[in-house]
Order: sequence, then structure tokens, then C-alpha cells
Amino acid sequence: MKVYRTVAEFEVDRSKTLALVPTMGAFHEGHLTLMRTARKSADQVAVSLFVNPTQFRAGEDFEKYPRDEECDFELADSAGVDFMFAPSVGEMYGSTGTTVLVGEIGSRWEGAYRPGHFEGVATVVAKLFNIVRPDVALFGLKDYQQCRVIARMVADLNFALRLQFEPTVREPDGLAMSSRNRYLSDDERLRAPVLYATLCQLAGAIRESSSGQIIQMRLAASKMALATVGFAVDYLELVDGETLAPARDASETNRLIVAAKLGATRLIDNVGLAE
Ligand code: AMP
Repeated sequence: MKVYRTVAEFEVDRSKTLALVPTMGAFHEGHLTLMRTARKSADQVAVSLFVNPTQFRAGEDFEKYPRDEECDFELADSAGVDFMFAPSVGEMYGSTGTTVLVGEIGSRWEGAYRPGHFEGVATVVAKLFNIVRPDVALFGLKDYQQCRVIARMVADLNFALRLQFEPTVREPDGLAMSSRNRYLSDDERLRAPVLYATLCQLAGAIRESSSGQIIQMRLAASKMALATVGFAVDYLELVDGETLAPARDASETNRLIVAAKLGATRLIDNVGLAE
């Protein structure tokens, strides 16, 4: 695996197809599955590893975000990655000023709780697309709103690449894998799977509900159930799977999205009603 630190040295064989998996490192099986899937989607696989400061707000975990480059490089290498792009903050943001505005889709949910987050994500992803110039870029559905924001940006700004969104990889007990799971205490880790279990149960109940009012009641009851287990729920919503606007019917394209804090750790997850 070749490691590149600067934009100038980034080089691949342009006669072959290229897949990109953008990441912030601290690899787990979710990241590695994306990398292995990328292998099947293109001749060459590039991974970017960049903890992007512009998508963190003041007071979030930018400084303490887990970093272990050496271990990540080994894992990526064994997952069959050809090129690792791991720039410094200075290399990526030597000159700043221009940013990508994502509009309404990025102002809801995560965007409301983390103002500026998706502008940071969209800007760095746009830069990575232009630096790496992949034929296909892979993202995890774990970060559902991020997938929709990037799909919008690619459509709106006419990026010439294909997007591939991959299912969430979970621990055996259902907890969505995340670099932030390591922040959980032993006791919190035991309770964390309740988040996904609640989503699954709620999705089942909504599939059987006919009225918007009943759906509303079920959402409220699930929020209370999560609070009982110790979650501080930021939002738990049924949304349109494309626009992320609130939805109140059981159509298969709708999705349940949740963000909740367990102690100091903020977890997000989602399930589709068709799942
Ligand atoms: P991150 O390093 O957290 O920015 O994640 C890099 C990519 O991996 C993003 O596209 C994430 O959506 C994806 N990802 C993170 N966790 C998972 C998971 N549990 N399953 C599938 N994809 C994931």
C-alpha cells in the first residue's frame, strides 16, 4: 500500500478504475468492510484518512478523536487497499475561504444539533473527490444523513462519479460499529444495544400502523423507553428516506433515524422501514 501525505504526490494509474473510501481512521469492521467492498467495485482502491476539523464544533471530540495511524495503515493494507491518502490539516486547509453549502437537507437532525457539520463534511468530501478523482466513492449507511447530503451534493454540483452506499456493520448484539463506541464505559456498552433494538421494534410497530397519530404515539413511547434506559435522546424521527423531511406513514422508503447520548457518548443509528 502506498501512503501519500500531500496532494502533489497523489498518483494512481488513470488507465484503471479507482474507488475511494473516505474515513477519519480508527478503523473497525465497518470501515474494513467498505474497503473490501471497494475492491470489488474498481481496479484500484484509495482510502483517505483525515480527521476533518471543520466538521467538528467547538466542544466536540476533535482533539480526543481516536487516532492510531500505524494500526490503521496495517489494517487497510490487509484489506487490500492500494493507496492511503493521509494529509495533515495544513495540507488540506492551507488556504481556506471557499466552502460547500448543503442547504435544507443538511440543516435538519444532525445539522440542527451540530450546526456547520455537514458543510464541513461536504467541503472535505468535495476536496477529496477532486484530489483523488475516483470513479466510485463508498460510504456507510450508518451515517444516513451524510449519505443523503453527499448524494445531493454530487447531483447538484455535477460530480462525475458513482456513489455506493453500504449497509451498517453491527456488533453481534446489534450495536452499530463506530469509532466512538470505545468511549463507552462497560456499563454503557451493555445498555447501548437498546438503541438499535428500539429502532427495530419501532419499525415493526410502524409497519403495522395505519394512522399518523398512532405513529406519533409510538415515536413518543420509544423516546420514553430510551430515556428509561439512560439515553438522552436528541431526536428519534420517522423521515422520508431521500429528503429527510418528517414522515407520518408506513411507506417502505421511510426511515427511522436516531441520535442519543449515553453518558458523554453520542450515538447515531437508523433503520429503513423496508428492512
Ligand atoms: P468515519 O471514519 O466514521 O468518518 O467513517 C468512514 C466511513 O465508514 C463513512 O462512510 C461511514 O459511514 C462508514 N462507517 C462507519 N461506521 C460504519 C459501520 N458500522 N458500518 C458501515 N459503515 C460504517
